[in-house]
Amino acid sequence: MFTTPIVVEGSWYAAGSSRRVPARLCSDSKGTDQFDILDQATAEVLAQARLTEIKVSSRIGNTTRFVGFPAGKFTSNDHASLDRIAQTQTPKRWSGLAHRLESHRKFIAATAAFMLVFGWCVYAYGIPGLARVVAMHLPAPVTEQLTQETLIALDRTLFSPSTLNAEEQTRWLEHFQPLLDDYPYLTLQVLFRDGGDLGANALALPDGTMIFTDQLVSLAEHPDELRAILLHEIAHVHHRHGVQSVVRGSLMALAWGLLVGDSSATAELVLTAPLVFSELSYSRRFEREADDFARDAMLYRGMDTDHFGRIMLRLTYDGRCETLEACRTLGEPESSLSKYLSTHPVTEERVQRFSGSAAD
Ligand SMILES: [Zn+2]
Repeated sequence: MFTTPIVVEGSWYAAGSSRRVPARLCSDSKGTDQFDILDQATAEVLAQARLTEIKVSSRIGNTTRFVGFPAGKFTSNDHASLDRIAQTQTPKRWSGLAHRLESHRKFIAATAAFMLVFGWCVYAYGIPGLARVVAMHLPAPVTEQLTQETLIALDRTLFSPSTLNAEEQTRWLEHFQPLLDDYPYLTLQVLFRDGGDLGANALALPDGTMIFTDQLVSLAEHPDELRAILLHEIAHVHHRHGVQSVVRGSLMALAWGLLVGDSSATAELVLTAPLVFSELSYSRRFEREADDFARDAMLYRGMDTDHFGRIMLRLTYDGRCETLEACRTLGEPESSLSKYLSTHPVTEERVQRFSGSAAD
């Protein structure tokens, strides 16, 4: 069977016993496929078995391995000899795979690095790209349903009916109407609500319904300030940023759920969906897109683009400063009035882009 006899030093544990006996595993000297377990001290035969009856455990690093006999278990660290037996027994492709993987740390590190890069690509490009495609093709009944449910949830939890009287509301809607008419392919409408804890804020829901809180309206010192915000919100509807955020969040939750087998993340997302449409949750890229859209539309209509920057600064700094220079001296903004920009500490950059465009 073996051209040179195999002798492996180790320990023997008889079946059902935890007593360790120093022993030796020997191949048969007559060339048969029989193995003997001999007591190291007395050379007494403790067990015998044929090659097909024994089972050699896989090699994992240098950990102790065992050879299973019908009558017990032999353990040893003589990997070279045990490998010879194992190879004869299982000349299979997968034999020793665990050990080979363990000893190929570079391969494992490379695999881990690849998975990391792949995961990041999926996170950074795959999911947002897929979310954009899905959002753009979501049929109108779905976006209408999403809007209705979100609005009901918001009215129940955050909002109260607007304290603006009918005249004020009508006046603002008249200010807004010419801008809404510029986008006949969108079904736009503006609603007013008391923002409650949300404070001064504006929301763009997927079907084109936009909500202005009373607190935001009362902050405006010029109609064009709110019209600038309106154009920014129209941009969110135009680019379907809200739906993209929801779809992206769902895909992330789904991916996470698949990864860790936990679906609670999905449930959490559904519960927080209403806030996905508020200014609190849009990504910086979405804000930039919306700002560009609003600035171009203002320039097209001959509006003073500084109006956007003015109301932004008032929102961010609670009206404690009017110009970027004055606001800079106040340091970090701490707005209790509004959380409109709390997740976007880039007011300065945004204000500058609008004021810069006036001079272009
Ligand atoms: Zn926005």
